[in-house]
This record gives sequence, structure tokens and C-alpha cells, in this order.
Amino acid sequence: MQVKLYSGFGKNKAAREAADLVQKCVHCGFCNATCPTYQDRFDERDGPRGRIYLIRHMLESGQAGDATRIHLDRCLTCRSCETTCPSGVQYGRLADAGRELLEQVSSRPVGQKFLRRIIRWVFPYPRRLNVVLGLGRIFRPILPRGLRRQIPSKQITWHGSQPSRPATRKMIVLGGCVQAAVTPGTNDAARRVLRRFDIELHESPSAGCCGAVDYHLAAQEQGLECARRNIDAWWPHVEAGAEAIVTTASGCGVMVKDYGALLKDDESYASRALRVSELAKDLCEVLESEDLSVFKDSTVKRRTAVHCPCTLMHAQGLGTSLERILERAGIPLAETTEEHLCCGSAGTYSLLQADISRRLLTRKLAALSIGEPEQIVTANIGCQLHLGAQSDVPVLHWIELLDSAAQK
Ligand code: SF4
Ligand code: SF4
Repeated sequence: MQVKLYSGFGKNKAAREAADLVQKCVHCGFCNATCPTYQDRFDERDGPRGRIYLIRHMLESGQAGDATRIHLDRCLTCRSCETTCPSGVQYGRLADAGRELLEQVSSRPVGQKFLRRIIRWVFPYPRRLNVVLGLGRIFRPILPRGLRRQIPSKQITWHGSQPSRPATRKMIVLGGCVQAAVTPGTNDAARRVLRRFDIELHESPSAGCCGAVDYHLAAQEQGLECARRNIDAWWPHVEAGAEAIVTTASGCGVMVKDYGALLKDDESYASRALRVSELAKDLCEVLESEDLSVFKDSTVKRRTAVHCPCTLMHAQGLGTSLERILERAGIPLAETTEEHLCCGSAGTYSLLQADISRRLLTRKLAALSIGEPEQIVTANIGCQLHLGAQSDVPVLHWIELLDSAAQK
């Protein structure tokens, strides 16, 4: 697809990046078949190809109207289209660049700006989020039903005893933001399970949100500031020989794996960011190479449906890892369908596009339920909370299954 860049965008970094990425699209439309929003609305502008046309129009005219904003906002950035695209269009990067440009050339209604600002002020900070959730729990009985469901119960955590002998292998773990506030037990469980394999997880107190919340809400510079802070926090441990930087939420994992690309033009951080990205591993990548048969006799034999988050399947290319791990650990898996479709959580999407998000959630739960599971597991905090708000069976992080087996 040819782009004649608007003359005023000559030095605009986002515009130039978007123009480069758009050119790979050959208009075939294969991507519409696997795009959740196209499948929901059957409107060309709510599919990847239509959005690419809208971005191209913005690049060539230097302007964007309400339609461009509405249809780009409806994109989940699930990257299912990237998995499908035969031409290798990097749609995730294109969506981020397009959105950055959109904020520069068009004005958003005040109400939307305010909501986005609130989300960015609360979600990346576990203490603030805990205050908001605490208030939500107090006032839950008088909240509208839809909102009531969005407020998760407080998770009871325990740290367990650790062997006094230091482990041979050391890794860093990302504490994160939403997961740290809502399900801190996930990282505790990961710590206990990895200790069985002589791996010690270190969480740096000065690291925090991976930056994805800001970055994907078109506040790229603030997102990159989070990345720089995390790199500074982790670097002493990297220099001391940490073997990997482990992420237990796949959405954060994608962001950390992207630090190298996102900071490639930052002289002070480029080489360290690249190293950090090389070391980044989802928890399932760490455990895939271990002998999981040790759990086989002690895992609870409940029929389990696996929801592989888009950020694990499409963005990290680890679509079947979870199933492989759970099967090797002796957990019976329930049949599922439409594995490629997003559950509608998509970071802050469930707050910003509540209607589409709810419809996708209903469709996803139906797809996860065909094998009549007794529980659902996933690998990303956003999906876990989103599915858990409407599911009839418990929704857990998969590491909790291995952890409960390890305690026996
Ligand atoms: S990222 Fe997901 S929602 Fe957005 S265009 Fe691609 S497939 Fe559709
Ligand atoms: S599948 Fe790829 S090349 Fe074809 S229309 Fe979609 S983005 Fe363009």
C-alpha cells in the first residue's frame, strides 16, 4: 500500500513509522476473519484492513475525524491480525504509532480525556489502585451491577517457608502494578514453584509498572519513563548475573520484550534496554524446560480449560506453551474453541469500550465452556479478572495449580 506522506509530517517520528508499516499491507483482507472486533461488528472500519486505510488517510491528509478515532479506539491491540497476516504487517506497532499521531492531529472529547487520565493516574500504582478497590468493596452493595462485578475480592496470600540454602540460579521477577495490587499471590506462587527447581526470584522494590498502561493510551513518553525506571532498577542484578527477567503477566511480558525496540534511539538506554529484552521470559518459558513430572501425582485432577491470552499467543508466539506445561504436570484439559479470539479484557479496553468488551467476554466464556470445565486458567491478570467477573467456575493463574501440587 503506497503512502504519500502529508508534507507537514516530514519530521514526525510516529507518522514516518506508521507510513513504513502501512506499506507492507497488500489489502487482502485475510485478517478480518480473525479480528474480534470485525467478527463482532462486521464493519470494514472495525477490522485491521479498514483501520489501516483510516491511518493511511490520516498520514496523507494530515487530519483525522471522529470516525478515525472511534474505529482505532475500538481496536483491542490483540494482534490476532498479525498472526494471520501473510504479508507480515506489524499491526501492534502500527496501532501505537497511529494512535500517537491521532492524539496530535485531533481532539478527544473532554469526558474521554478525563477517564483516560484517571486510569493512567490509578492503574500503574498498586497503592492508589488498592485504595480505589478498597472503596469499591465498601460501596459494592450500592454500585450498579456491571460495576460491582468488576471489583475483585481481596486475595488471601501466604508466603510459605523457603529453604534456608541459597538457590544456585537467580532470576529477576517483575512485580508490576495491577497484579501486585489484586493477586499478589501469583508471584508468591511462582517463587515457591521455581524454588523447587533451584531458582530464586528477586523482585526489585524500585521497579514497577512495565509502562504498558501509559504506552497503549497514547502517552508513549510516560510509558518509556516506566521502562527506563525498571531498567535502572534491574541493571545491578543483570550485571550480577541474573539468568532471566521473568514476567508472570503476559501483557507486561510483551512490553518488557519490546523495551529494546522502543528505546533503540535513546543513547543512554538503548544497549541496556536491548539486554533487558533479551533476558525477558514469560514464566511458561522458564518452566517449559524443567521436569514437570514431579507434579504429576499431586496435581488436583480437575477438568481445566486454558485461556491463552492474546499477549502470550499472538504477541509472544507462545500459543501452546500453557497446554504443554499443564499436560506434563498431569492436569486434565477441557476442550475449548475459538482460541485465537480475545476475551475483551485487553488492558484498559474493558473500561473504555464496555459494550464490545462484554460481548466478547460472553463469546469467550461460551468457547471456554464447551468441555464443561471445573476451572479456567490463564496467564494474564487482565484476562483473569475479566473472565472471573462473569465465569461460573473459578478463574486462576495457571501457576497456582502447580503451586498447590508443590505443597503436597
Ligand atoms: S489488533 Fe485485534 S482488534 Fe485490532 S485490528 Fe488486529 S485483530 Fe482486530
Ligand atoms: S492480512 Fe495483512 S496484508 Fe492482508 S489486509 Fe490484513 S494487514 Fe493487510
